[in-house]
Formats: sequence, structure tokens, C-alpha cells
Amino acid sequence: MSHESSSAPRSTAHSRAAYVKASRVMPGGVSSPVRAFKGVGGTPLFIKEARGCTITDIDGNEYIDYVGSYGPLIVGHANDIVVAAITKALGKGATFGASTEAEIRLAEIITGAIPSVEMVRFVNSGTEAAMSAIRLARAATGRDLIIKCNGCYHGHSDGLLVNAGSGALTLGTPSSPGVPRSIAAGTVSVQYNNLDDARAAFEKYPGQIACFCVEPIAGNMGLVVPSSGYLPGLRALCDAHGALLLFDEVMTGFRVAWGGAQVLYDIRPDITCLGKIIGGGMPVGAYGGSRKLMEMISPAGPVYQAGTLSGNPVAMAAGIATLELLWEGDCYEKLESLSARLADGLTAAAERASVPLAVNRVGAMVCPFFTKEAGGTVTNFADATACDTARYAKFFHAMLDNGIFLPPSQFEAWFVSTAHDEEAIDATIAAVEKSLQHVTA
Ligand SMILES: *Cc1c(COP(=O)(O)O)cnc(C)c1O
Repeated sequence: MSHESSSAPRSTAHSRAAYVKASRVMPGGVSSPVRAFKGVGGTPLFIKEARGCTITDIDGNEYIDYVGSYGPLIVGHANDIVVAAITKALGKGATFGASTEAEIRLAEIITGAIPSVEMVRFVNSGTEAAMSAIRLARAATGRDLIIKCNGCYHGHSDGLLVNAGSGALTLGTPSSPGVPRSIAAGTVSVQYNNLDDARAAFEKYPGQIACFCVEPIAGNMGLVVPSSGYLPGLRALCDAHGALLLFDEVMTGFRVAWGGAQVLYDIRPDITCLGKIIGGGMPVGAYGGSRKLMEMISPAGPVYQAGTLSGNPVAMAAGIATLELLWEGDCYEKLESLSARLADGLTAAAERASVPLAVNRVGAMVCPFFTKEAGGTVTNFADATACDTARYAKFFHAMLDNGIFLPPSQFEAWFVSTAHDEEAIDATIAAVEKSLQHVTA
């Protein structure tokens, strides 16, 4: 397939018309906020179809895609084997309200891949996984407070939509109207990658912290890599204070390595949240941990949590097919080399264009930050939010014009899939070369 961008100017008339219609019947015209292009301006694209690494909008424009539906599509869009698995499962019935063998199969793959996870409970989204995992942590410790890091995202449940309170280490305040102050006050916010901050939080609330909840690789403030010692340090702090370590691997699970970040860095959290890839593009989430902890969940134990569509057979089939594809070949080697090629290409292009750019990457998660100064680094939320989002917006639109679909926000990671190839990466770098000329203008 050719990734040459056509010479005719791109029309988005159909997407624009759809957006007007959508905005009449859906808030902001979308089903999830980032899709609305608020972070970059302009009107969002409406998608007709996608295949492999190519996504096509309803005006017929084709783009090489790095959104990857924000993480699930590690084997690319409409992978034949995944589509066949979904079709087969669907033909036998979409949902039964009773157990299927597919749940056992997916649970066995997950527990086989992640040493800290002996049992899992399937839910329908990452949001649900995180909120349920926190209930479990509170039940297991008999404590109410949780710690989370600024800029880490764990879904949109009340207790996790929290800003740091005024002053260091004060209890949190709601980051959205509608979140009760009393619930936000159950969450202490700290800086990511800062062990002193974490230690101070534990010391300020002795015997009160149920869990430290963290994305082991932060992927929702752009991409921020854990500094060496940070995750082992959190493990030690949790142990010292009788708290549980909760890794939210909804994004990183099976993305950065078979298993996830905890396998890559060899750290054992107490509870792990999963989602995205394990559903192969269908709605899914899961949380897991030791048998002892997980048997506290209803009906084995007293901690209530349920779901009409949980463990849905179509989602299980998509997840199993995706994970089997990842297990078979040399997928992670391929993802590593393609992603390194992309990151190196971005860095080199930025140097040639004299545009300050900090490219963070772990495996097939990549994020170029438009830092304000040359040589700047991004290691936490403050660094990320200091970046030049106006510049990212210009870059984003220039890349669209050059046939590349990026996340419409500086604060999202780019995802490489096994459906990308060197030709697609090189076409992307060529588009980067052209687009960087516009950001300096
Ligand atoms: C995407 C994501 C979530 C939320 O998952 P949804 O399925 O969108 O509810 C939670 N945590 C992390 C780390 C995520 O990346």
C-alpha cells in the first residue's frame, strides 16, 4: 500500500457536517471528550472505517493512524483473526448472563502472563476496573484514603477526578463539578516520579492510606517514564506503611511487554487494573491480584461488585485473539524496532528544524513533547503542562494535512501497532519533516 499523500487539497466537508449534526444530539458532538479536538482546535474527524494502520474518514481521506483507539489496537484495525473471532462469538450469541469458557481462557492467559495476578475479575471498562480495585484496597486494609499522582488518569469515577488540594499534600478537591467534596477528600495527590512527595504523604496520614494508585508508566499526561528507583521505592513505601500498591495498567498492560510494565520493570504490585488491549477493541476492563485478595470479591467474599455484561463473550473472544497474536510471533521485537525508528526519526527531524522536542518512549508508546526550551525534559505533570500546546496544535493539523492521524492533544501517547511497518514509519517521518516547518512559522 502506498502512503503518498495526494496532491488534491483535503476536504473535510462531510466530517464538518456530521459534527454539526452530532452536536445537536450529543454533548460536544462526541461520546468521549478528547475526540472533540478541543486540545488542538478545529472540528473532529468522523471515521468511516479502518484497516491495519490506516484509518479513513467519511470524506474518504486516508491517514496513517497513531491513535489506535487510545491503546487497544496493538494488532491494528480490523485484524482478520480478531474480526473472525468476534464474528464467530457473536454468531453464538452476544451475551448470556451466565459464564462461558472464554472467560476462563482469557483469565488463564492474564494470570499466566502477570505473576502478581493469580485471579481476575472482568468488568466493562478501565474506569470500572480502577474504581472496583480501590474498593478492594479499602476493604483489604480497612482504611479510607488513597494516594494518586497528578496527571495520572484512572478513569472518571468520583474519587479519581481530583486535583491536588491547596498546599502540599492536603486532601484533594474535585476536578469536575458534580464530584462531592467529601469524596475528593478521600484522595491525596502527589507528584509523579517523586518519592519524597510519596513518603511525605504516607507520613502525613499514618495508618490511613489504603493504596498508592499509579500508572507505572504514565500515559495520560503524554508519556512520562518512571525514573529508576521510583517504582521499587513505591513498593517499599507501601510495604512500610501497610498499604497496597495498585498499578493501573489499563494502558500499559500487554502494551510495553507481554504482561505489562510490572513485567518489564520486575515489580509486583498488589492489585493490577487492565483494560484496552485485553479486550481487542471491544469494551472491557479487569482487575486482579493474589488469590487471597481477590477472594474478598463477591460472591467469594463480601466486597460487592457486579456487571450485567461483565466477561462478555464477544469481548473475551476479541481479547483472546489479540493476546494469542501477541504471544505467537516476535510482536514485541517488531513493536520495539518500529517505535524506536519513529522516536529517532522525530528527534532527528526536530533537530534539523531547530524545534525543541523531548521524545519520550517505552516500547510502542511514544510521545513528542514540544518543550519550551531546547534540551528540556518531561518527567512529571508540571513538565508536561509547561509544554507548548499551541505548537502541538499546529503540528497536529499539519500532520493531518500530510496524511497522519495523531492524538488530538499534547497529553496523549501515540501508539504503534504490529500493523505498522517501516514504510509507514518512514512516511510518517517525512510528514514530520514537512509539518515542523509550519510550527516555527
Ligand atoms: C484508558 C485508561 C483508563 C480508563 O479506561 P476506560 O476504558 O476508558 O474507562 C484508566 N486508566 C488508564 C491508565 C487508562 O489509560
